[in-house]
Amino acid sequence: MKYGILGDIHANLDALEKALAAFEAARVQRIVSVGDVVGYGAAPRECIARLREIGASVVKGNHDAACVGELDLAGFNPYARQAVLWTRSQLSPEEQRWLADLPLIEHTDDCMVAHGSPYEPWRFDYVQTVLDADRSLDTMEQAICFVGHTHVPVILLRLHDDPLRTGYTLDTEVDLSEARCALVNVGSVGQPRDEDPRAAYVIFDSESSVVSLRRVAYDIELEARRIRAAGLPDVLAERLFLGV
Ligand code: ZN
Repeated sequence: MKYGILGDIHANLDALEKALAAFEAARVQRIVSVGDVVGYGAAPRECIARLREIGASVVKGNHDAACVGELDLAGFNPYARQAVLWTRSQLSPEEQRWLADLPLIEHTDDCMVAHGSPYEPWRFDYVQTVLDADRSLDTMEQAICFVGHTHVPVILLRLHDDPLRTGYTLDTEVDLSEARCALVNVGSVGQPRDEDPRAAYVIFDSESSVVSLRRVAYDIELEARRIRAAGLPDVLAERLFLGV
């Protein structure tokens, strides 16, 4: 099965469209999202509608949870908080229900998916180091788990021939058949933070076990205009150009 995996869309419609076009070109058979459909960007309803239209499997991110009142906003910075409140005011009760009903973990035949970490996913912990990854890798029910949340693509893994050591790779094409288990951060579609402003997404071929971390350019100008027109903080538009 060929999977297209993406997340942290953050209501960035053109970035989402460009990633979906890349999936189509790569002939993926199933689309999975690691969550944070909304928050920050100014096209939350359009992004929700698009994911529903294509039948994507989506897990719940912390911004999705916050936008339906499930998370205390005290943990959000002022810009994120403002975006959450604006998003809440835009969504219909039915769209809010769709977000509220998203699962925290999704299992497919070949992998699992969570937003921050498969270990106690309701905490939305940030997995940034090999130490952060250990609890997840120790307890994962499947060998491969896709996550997002940090907006920085990376693969944290343990190899068959060195199963006690957790390592990481920034390679963009990795054969996971050599890995005993792996946590793959797919990066962010709508608000990358690794200083590459292009939308990030992943193609995973379960037959060959090859994971490919890819980027695609999108119309940042368009989405920045949309953010400003919505009256959202300017910094949320500016950061898109920098990829931070
Ligand atoms: Zn996010």
